Amino acid sequence: MSLQETHVFQAEIKQLLDIVIHSLYTEKEIFIRELISNAADAIEKVRFQQAGGTEVRSPSLPLKISVTTDDAAKTITIADTGVGMTKKELIDNLGTIARSGSKEFMQKLGEAKAEQRLDLIGQFGVGFYSAFMVAEKVDVYTCSSKADEPAWHWSSTGAGSFDIVETEGLDRGTRIVVHLRDEQKEYATKARVEEILRRYSNFVPFPIELNGETTNKVQALWAKSKSEIKDEEYNEFYQFVSHDYQPPAYRLHFNADAPLSIKALLFTPQTSLERMGLTRAENEVSLYCRKVLIQPKAKNLFPEWLRFLKGVVDCEDLPLNISRETMQDSALLAKLNQVLTARYIKMLDEEAKKDVEKYSKFYSEFSHCLKEGVVRDDKNREALGKLLRFESSATEPGKTTSLADYVSRMGSDQTEIYALLASSREAAEGNPNYEVFRERKIEVLFMYEHHDEFVMEHLRTFDGKKLTFAEKADLALDEPVKKEDAKELDADQTRALTNFIKETLGERVGEVRASKRLVDSPAVVAESDPGMTSSMRRIMKAMNREARSFASSPHLEINPRHPLIVQLYAVRQQDAALAGKVSEQLFDNALIAAGLLEDPRLMLQRLNVLLTRVIGGEVKEEAPAPSASDAKPEADGGASVFDEPAATEAVDATEVPVTVVKDA
Ligand code: ADP
Ligand code: MG
Repeated sequence: MSLQETHVFQAEIKQLLDIVIHSLYTEKEIFIRELISNAADAIEKVRFQQAGGTEVRSPSLPLKISVTTDDAAKTITIADTGVGMTKKELIDNLGTIARSGSKEFMQKLGEAKAEQRLDLIGQFGVGFYSAFMVAEKVDVYTCSSKADEPAWHWSSTGAGSFDIVETEGLDRGTRIVVHLRDEQKEYATKARVEEILRRYSNFVPFPIELNGETTNKVQALWAKSKSEIKDEEYNEFYQFVSHDYQPPAYRLHFNADAPLSIKALLFTPQTSLERMGLTRAENEVSLYCRKVLIQPKAKNLFPEWLRFLKGVVDCEDLPLNISRETMQDSALLAKLNQVLTARYIKMLDEEAKKDVEKYSKFYSEFSHCLKEGVVRDDKNREALGKLLRFESSATEPGKTTSLADYVSRMGSDQTEIYALLASSREAAEGNPNYEVFRERKIEVLFMYEHHDEFVMEHLRTFDGKKLTFAEKADLALDEPVKKEDAKELDADQTRALTNFIKETLGERVGEVRASKRLVDSPAVVAESDPGMTSSMRRIMKAMNREARSFASSPHLEINPRHPLIVQLYAVRQQDAALAGKVSEQLFDNALIAAGLLEDPRLMLQRLNVLLTRVIGGEVKEEAPAPSASDAKPEADGGASVFDEPAATEAVDATEVPVTVVKDA
């Protein structure tokens, strides 16, 4: 026999215990569910070892959970005939949180609201420690299923450390004795515990005895026919598999015989904790074969993007004694994955048509997963396209359209689906690239999230129609959109002006050319690299602010029908210096509209010079632009807003003229 050892809890566990003990949980009773679920897991492991031919201690011991209450002693005891724990397992499992990211989790837990904490604890599975919500002391007696391991007694009051000592006279399994605090002695009464077991543990697939009587009826809900199951039962089952307190958003209960014999019951939660930034969702679909659990949280049963699903898949074609390792890469599993995923996508598509509001709620929670699917899951990409939703120029603000509905509205001569990346609806409607679509009444999808660009690039087409970004759309514009009675530069004048602007801007700009698509804006930048869009450029900039070395500078397209451009052409001949400044400002404005201006300071100085001239101030030039060294401002008969200023006090307009002063 060894001597008693005292171990301190890992810092994260201490913190966790502190939260568990001192938070005012209203539903302290969940500790019973957590301990039962651990007991069931432990039994499941033994069953699995036996099925796989591993020798276990006391192989004929019945697989069951026994709960005993003792109101005189104020204890509740939960015993199982599961795998038990060796000394090392005891120290590792009930003294540390092994999972990576646990520190971060603890921090989230500390910040979360009381209602959320409960969910978090359940979902992250720090369940054992919930016993300390009600206990002044917890004793764990355990004996491993490995035949030659001794038995152990673990004990703690939750105050920073636990004791371990070797013990005797135990058979395989674990017995947990919870010594209740006075305020919580209700959990030592049979009636109270019976009620709790009925609520949470009805679906545990092993018998549970309470003070010697079996309480749960083991039922494989998924194997019953739909007509026999009440909504309430479905929801209870969902609670059991998900630890979620809300009912599910969608459920899918289906049977298939070909190509595989499948019974599946799959639930979609209402909310995504992942989206709240709380924890990464973990697939919680268990794989069964003829009602026997093969693998809880089965890996590879679904693609990664469906990690929010909860439920059960029962497949008769699986060999019962398949090992978890061979399970990972079996062709059967791949087939199963394919069938299940296709069926789930079909369900969502149908539900979306049935109830638009409900689907849009689901979409706001889980669109990041669907989009991840489009990017990463090439087998289901096309089908996933049907599930995407975007605002568009044809929807009301806040409402969305599917790609299918977009296609149904397309004009007979429209062959592509157009999309515009913008930060908001306002930004999209004000984007110069949108003007021609608005004038010609062509619908454009508005996409507000950075990753939408990558999503579209992976999707590429929908229903045989190419997806094209508005800024790259080739609209075959023979006839530019023209405002009536507007002045317009002819081809020669336009060429002269574009040459001038290119000379002024030099390497900063790629080509300068006339645009046929602009209506209200004087200019727009166009991507010079065919593999890029301006939003991609923006993201790359944000990611790597130091690297300015983009392959090429963006092009600038000007609108020969815009008064600013028409006037710029005229001014260029009279005041090249001023025209140069305006050209630079024109370019910067277009960069701003595209979200690409790097450093606004230079621009502000220039803008101040221009503003000074607009209101008739005199500008003291520091270093005149080289191309304008000989150009003298001359009053001309034209209608320039930049007419020779009346003599006023000279202002150094390169300095910031205004300081913002806050009202006292
Ligand atoms: P989780 O169940 O999510 O792993 P818990 O805090 O509930 O987290 O349990 C921690 C670990 O302690 C379990 O993973 C398991 O290894 C071990 N454990 C808890 N209860 C038992 C039990 N009754 N029998 C065997 N091992 C157990
Ligand atoms: Mg647990």
